[in-house]
Amino acid sequence: MIKKTLTILAVSCMLYSCATKTEGNPFFTEFKTEYGVPPFDQIKLEHYEPAFLKGIEEQNANIKAIIENKEEPTFENTIVAYDESSPILGRVGAVFFNMTDANTTDSLTALSIKMAPVLSEHGDNIVLNADLFKRIDAVYQKRESLQLTTEQKRLLDKVYKEFIRSGAALDAQKQGRLREINKELSTLGLTFGNNILNENNAFQLFVDKKEDLAGLPDWFCQAAAEEAKAAGKSGQWLFTLQNSSRLPFLQYADNRALREKIYTAYINRGNHNDKNDNKKVISQILALRLEKAQMLGFDSYANFVLDQTMAKTDVAVMTLLNKVWAYALPKAKAEAVELQKIMNKAGKGEKLAAWDWWYYTEKLRKEKYNLSEEETKPYFKLENVRDGAFMVAHNLYGITLEKLTNVPTYDPDVEVFNVKDADGSQLGVFYVDYFPRAGKRGGAWMSNYREQRGDIRPLVCNVASFTKPVGDTPSLLTLDEVETLFHEFGHALHGLLTKCQYKGTSGTNVVRDFVELPSQINEHWSTEPEVLKMYAKHYKTGEVIPDSLIAKIVKQKTFNQGFVTTELLAAAILDMNLHMVKEMNGFDVLAFEKSAMDQLGLIPEIAPRYRPTYFNHIVGGYAAGYYSYVWANVLDNDAFEAFNEKGLFDQQTANLFRRNVLEKGDSEDPMVLYKNFRGAEPQMEPMLKNRGMIE
Ligand SMILES: [Zn+2]
Repeated sequence: MIKKTLTILAVSCMLYSCATKTEGNPFFTEFKTEYGVPPFDQIKLEHYEPAFLKGIEEQNANIKAIIENKEEPTFENTIVAYDESSPILGRVGAVFFNMTDANTTDSLTALSIKMAPVLSEHGDNIVLNADLFKRIDAVYQKRESLQLTTEQKRLLDKVYKEFIRSGAALDAQKQGRLREINKELSTLGLTFGNNILNENNAFQLFVDKKEDLAGLPDWFCQAAAEEAKAAGKSGQWLFTLQNSSRLPFLQYADNRALREKIYTAYINRGNHNDKNDNKKVISQILALRLEKAQMLGFDSYANFVLDQTMAKTDVAVMTLLNKVWAYALPKAKAEAVELQKIMNKAGKGEKLAAWDWWYYTEKLRKEKYNLSEEETKPYFKLENVRDGAFMVAHNLYGITLEKLTNVPTYDPDVEVFNVKDADGSQLGVFYVDYFPRAGKRGGAWMSNYREQRGDIRPLVCNVASFTKPVGDTPSLLTLDEVETLFHEFGHALHGLLTKCQYKGTSGTNVVRDFVELPSQINEHWSTEPEVLKMYAKHYKTGEVIPDSLIAKIVKQKTFNQGFVTTELLAAAILDMNLHMVKEMNGFDVLAFEKSAMDQLGLIPEIAPRYRPTYFNHIVGGYAAGYYSYVWANVLDNDAFEAFNEKGLFDQQTANLFRRNVLEKGDSEDPMVLYKNFRGAEPQMEPMLKNRGMIE
């Protein structure tokens, strides 16, 4: 996943004189640190709010200067000036929103709720500024005669459409309503996220009887014992809804009733008719989005969103999703039959339920491939996997990552690396924050502390919640986590290798159904035999992963893909359906979900990967966009075919990918970029093949 901070707000110092008091607040000026990294050792809670307010003031002054410029509107004095209009907000926003996701506190959360409407109003003040739009429109209307580069045309088009899509061309009354809608949406979005966080924290499964731990691996029990101890219940074991706790529990716990308990708690987050309930919140969000889309001339919010994507329309998206669904569901059903067979062998007369899927899948995996996660994990020590990802990038693109020990961080768990190109030039700084903590939301993502433009190099981070080392046992990753690490590092490469002129076009600022290509293609290397031998070494003995184990890993790649694809598609289709709604009267979100899933023929043993009351993606930046993972999966499999054809580290192919995709950001239409790399449009077959759905 990828996280966007204030996209509307951009950078320049030229128009603003920093005469007011700057002492003490590190956000008021460029960070005076090596590489320009955020001075986490100086940043304090009380710095954020004044910096936001000062940043708003600064950007307002910069925009006023654009408007009052006596010269004719030009690309430079209008579009570039706008792209660079918010240095302070850029700095404070990047740090603040990374902290509220990775390291929040009650005070930071409270401040984010306080600032949300202020920032949203400020954003509206800009995009609904008629005088500013007049100048942008003037540049846009004469774009053909300006002899702009491809990237400049793209930025101009982007900025112009951003204003149009924000209501710049609407009348004053409609603009007023739009402001209200945006304000409400931003507050509702925060409420939604905080409700989920509260729900995650509220659920604690304490186990006090050793027999209830049956089936669970030692490392996992140890971690759970530590958790319980930290929660003040020494001698017990604590399991939570975090992926790193819930998923191993579902996978290994013999106690079926407890599996049901943790599963049910997970899928009912935000659905308890209490203060953390999200049913009404999500319905309100959907209604406001629909109203907004219709005001801007679209029939649904889905089509409003998709207008700015590679897919372009809901028809294109649904066609792809339905096509894949036709292969995925039968495969999932066949998998369910196999799981039921194993259950039958146990002779308890139990029928496969949703909370059994992981548990019996693990048993089946063992039976079929004689492969258990416990066998592979010793070879996937976090540091080895991370170094493996770095090595792959080095072999492909010639880059190196060196650990920096003198860069301030917000937590001792955070590590920082200096990223250099093959010729020794500096590409950027890369932060990794891999372990869970209270105040970090679930999942994994990439984000920026500073975006690239011109000569300014980016500061990029990866955040995840992998199992923390316990005692002498280091953090050992599951195969899934190995792929997650490579995935997020793929986003990081997109952010680090970018070579664009403008902030608005650089790095991962691409259309959403293209943004997962660099991340998803990077996952492919993680389990290639040649690559596994490079990094997968036993954490105790240093022994390279044996060929027999590699063979098993490769053989089981298509294992359980029916389930994985089905739960992903179900969520993607649910997201699309929710945003294709054209009438909200009498809308009941859970009834809607049920009817949508019934129509698809989804089996009760599988739930959509996310349900509406905790579908964070679609409340964040992925509304009518969760399909992007499938869309990009077509792209990444087709793109990786190029490496299959030419060689895993073929320099020419790697170079084509780097120059046409990783360096290009959004400086050109994504389909053009893709074809420049691949020589043709992407095909669906490699994906179906890699998921074991066709031969
Ligand atoms: Zn991603």
